[in-house]
Amino acid sequence: MTQREVLPELVSQDEITLKEAAPLFANYIDPQGERWRNYEADAACLGQDPELFMIYGKGEHGTDAKAFCRTCPVARICLAAAYDPGVDRHAVRGNMTGGERKRLLQSFVMKHNAVVARRRQTEESTAA
Ligand code: SF4
Repeated sequence: MTQREVLPELVSQDEITLKEAAPLFANYIDPQGERWRNYEADAACLGQDPELFMIYGKGEHGTDAKAFCRTCPVARICLAAAYDPGVDRHAVRGNMTGGERKRLLQSFVMKHNAVVARRRQTEESTAA
């Protein structure tokens, strides 16, 4: 999933804050709730050293880790799971670093709220 692929579909009728967006976005990416099953059994990184997926330094892009993610059949589910509490922001998940996941979430919130505002304007002008 890329920022461009994030559609401004509504997950709420109201504007959402970045703080409340993570679980809504996780459900948006993973509407079937597949992240709650043992998806790791199908992961491309199964058996790999978890340290390979950790990024601590600025400017690191997790290139080696992402090589696994790009071929991973459960990457989308893994990405959704990364928005659930307790996932280390230093970890590459779903082919994204923690920073990339945060920017994706910010992009989603901005697009979502723009759609909510537009709908509200349309409703108000129709009612006037
Ligand atoms: S997307 Fe990447 S981190 Fe997630 S399960 Fe697949 S290979 Fe592992």
